[in-house]
Amino acid sequence: MNIHEYQAKELLAKFGVGIPAGIPALTVEEAVAATSQLPGPLYVVKAQIHAGGRGKGKFKELPADAKGGVRLAKSAADVEAFAKEMLGNTLVTVQTGEAGKQVNRLYVTDGVDIAREYYLSMVVDRASSRVALIVSTEGGMDIEEVAHATPEKITTITVDTATGFQPHHGRAVAFALKLSGDLNKQAQKISKQLYEAFVALDCDMLEINPLVETKDGKLLVLDTKMSFDSNALYRHPDVQALRDETEEDPAEVEASKYDLAYIKLDGDIGCMVNGAGLAMATMDIIKLNGSFPANFLDVGGGANKEKVTAAFKIILRDPNVKGILVNIFGGIMKCDIIAEGIVAAAKEVNLSVPLVVRLEGTNVQQGKDILANSGLPIVAANDLGDAAKKIVAQVQQVA
Ligand code: ADP
Ligand code: MG
Repeated sequence: MNIHEYQAKELLAKFGVGIPAGIPALTVEEAVAATSQLPGPLYVVKAQIHAGGRGKGKFKELPADAKGGVRLAKSAADVEAFAKEMLGNTLVTVQTGEAGKQVNRLYVTDGVDIAREYYLSMVVDRASSRVALIVSTEGGMDIEEVAHATPEKITTITVDTATGFQPHHGRAVAFALKLSGDLNKQAQKISKQLYEAFVALDCDMLEINPLVETKDGKLLVLDTKMSFDSNALYRHPDVQALRDETEEDPAEVEASKYDLAYIKLDGDIGCMVNGAGLAMATMDIIKLNGSFPANFLDVGGGANKEKVTAAFKIILRDPNVKGILVNIFGGIMKCDIIAEGIVAAAKEVNLSVPLVVRLEGTNVQQGKDILANSGLPIVAANDLGDAAKKIVAQVQQVA
């Protein structure tokens, strides 16, 4: 789960991390009112969307030469003008894709006099089972570009979570950032605070880009991206409350309510499968037969009628879907129960696209009989290869 920059900064502030003063705003009036609570005279108005690259982004509704989603304001009047231009409009950045994201929230923050911009991030490194700290003197810009062009400018330091963040880790961060004197001490302190926040909040990613050195010699977090391990969210109701569903794909939000693992893709064959591995294999074999899957969907182990109905509805929200392939292995779930679920669900959603079903496992014959006697135009398949051929043929016939 991702959260907004201002929310992440509020969380980090509790760990003592230095952040510039700032106030979130949902309306132009709130944005203007925020200026009276900030020191001024410079303010920065920042679009809050779950994507980076806002500064260099473009608003769809504004002229091509208009500024992006991070703007320096010299007065409350500037803040008002910028808020009017941003709120409700669609910001396109390198991370949003062409569709962009609608800006519904702003963050009005203190304008900082920047001397240097650095990069610092943390991720869970599965290979080493450690937390990896990634630091670079080249902050403020696209870190992928830095990694590609000048990999020597990126340093990775890993921390064993069993022993935690040690003073030498802090010194390694400060050294990688080429800092001396008081700034060196600040880098050690802030990297420890960030690590503590990362672990305490069960983050899976924390990115500070940029971490800035101000002209008066302070290290501050200027931009933050934070995401959380969803398996640990139950431990953090306060973090859960920060979820902004308007930032997520509506079909994926709906799927999560039914505990379905759904990811939308670009093809035209909807897939309903149990088990992530079988779902991947199903997508592969659709491609092998010359078509493309419209989604990944794992209904999980306990696929009952409610879940199957919800899954059909979610698959059919996608207007590109021209046919559905159901591929279920009835191990714990029996095939006859699954077949009843499929028939009931297909009737309920008034299924209008071809449906190919491959069932295998316990009570498979009863399951096939239920499908055959349902009166619905369901095409039964014998195995995965047969199923893929049949659905591809059906969809290509429609096209
Ligand atoms: P994004 O990464 O989405 O473009 P950032 O918050 O990193 O957004 O802002 C982009 C750039 O804008 C920063 O690298 C920094 O140079 C400048 N900036 C952001 N916030 C401030 C601020 N409070 N004061 C001064 N400059 C800022
Ligand atoms: Mg940034």
